Amino acid sequence: CTSILQNLSRLSIFTKRTMLKHSINHIMNKKVIDRYNRLCLPDDKIMATYCWIDGSGINMRCKDRILRKAPTDVKSCPKWAFDGSSTGQAETGDSDTVLSPVALYKDPFRMEPHILVLCEVFQGSDGKPAKTNFRTFCNDLCETHKDEDPWFGLEQEYTMMDVDGWNLGWPKGGGFPAVKYEFSYCGIGAKYVAGRDIVEAHARACLYAGLDFEGTNAEVMHGGWEWQIGTSVGIKAPDDLWMSRFIMNRVAEDYGVMITYHPKPAGHLHPGMGMHHNFSCKKTRSDGGFDFIKECIKKLEKNHMKHMKNYGNDENANRMRLSGKFETAPFEEFSWGVASRKASIRLQRNVEKNGKGFFEDRRPAADCDPYLVCGLLMETCLGPAKK
Ligand code: ADP
Ligand code: MN
Ligand code: MN
Ligand code: MN
Ligand code: MN
Repeated sequence: CTSILQNLSRLSIFTKRTMLKHSINHIMNKKVIDRYNRLCLPDDKIMATYCWIDGSGINMRCKDRILRKAPTDVKSCPKWAFDGSSTGQAETGDSDTVLSPVALYKDPFRMEPHILVLCEVFQGSDGKPAKTNFRTFCNDLCETHKDEDPWFGLEQEYTMMDVDGWNLGWPKGGGFPAVKYEFSYCGIGAKYVAGRDIVEAHARACLYAGLDFEGTNAEVMHGGWEWQIGTSVGIKAPDDLWMSRFIMNRVAEDYGVMITYHPKPAGHLHPGMGMHHNFSCKKTRSDGGFDFIKECIKKLEKNHMKHMKNYGNDENANRMRLSGKFETAPFEEFSWGVASRKASIRLQRNVEKNGKGFFEDRRPAADCDPYLVCGLLMETCLGPAKK
């Protein structure tokens, strides 16, 4: 068997990597699976999909296992192991890597009683968080600042693409839609938007799963969209955001569409994609909150470049996005403003009027890790985690 494979791999056709031209996923007859979905499964068995962030820090992986009965909470959900050397999370010679469940959701693909299990990853060798696991960092800060009741609202922007890497709905073979970008934002009509079925399917799947899923809109770039998670308390916001990314990629797979969270997916002539983080705590929401928000802004300004290093999967890709154009503030310059979409931090007009409320950090890239960003916001504004 090995020698056949070795022979095959000598043929250039098997060694050349090319983009897919078509996705087999949506061409496959989706009705056939219905036959098998009709089969009644044993009463005492459920299917659990364990989901985690891989070593890239943006892609997710999953694998399924059969449990005897549905766990009622994460503590009764068993830990599991996987081959971390195939996900960029361990060396081949020491590859057992641990999945530790942190949140359970209803499975919108198989439906009840089946579940999705969001996990964080620990190294098998020393039990420490894997290098792309920032949940521990964020959760420690949530615990430390519990009394401040931190709330987050996250706006995930993203871009749909054909599997050939071309933006969904854009003219093939070059060029871009001959419409002004302003018309695609919250737009309707085939001229302005592409992929709404995916948006709709994703929204329903997220609500079914039990996420704090709060809304969607078409974005400025044709084929670009946004959804919002929260306002949620503490760690539930980034947990739900990661699970909503998982669900999005899984739904889009059914349609043969690729999702990218790249902050500047179509080059400098076209809009970028971010993940605005809206943040508040007891102090910002109470009387005198506006003054505390200004204190936070001062601290954020001091830490600007440190944050910029952590506000995206790739600092330089976010640098391309934060060009000062397309409603962004320049990468190197910190600024804030009321009602300003050109500022790093934006306050809504009624925050100034009421003297309290929340602020919006517009700097994070669409491919940021919300565990990292939410954690840094708490650490900077409220203080470091107690050990
Ligand atoms: P825009 O696109 O104008 O920035 P969105 O409606 O997309 O506005 O997002 C606003 C976000 O602000 C929502 O995700 C919401 O959850 C969040 N938000 C509202 N009030 C608060 C608050 N007090 N604390 C934290 N986040 C909040
Ligand atoms: Mn195996
Ligand atoms: Mn928004
Ligand atoms: Mn937006
Ligand atoms: Mn926003």
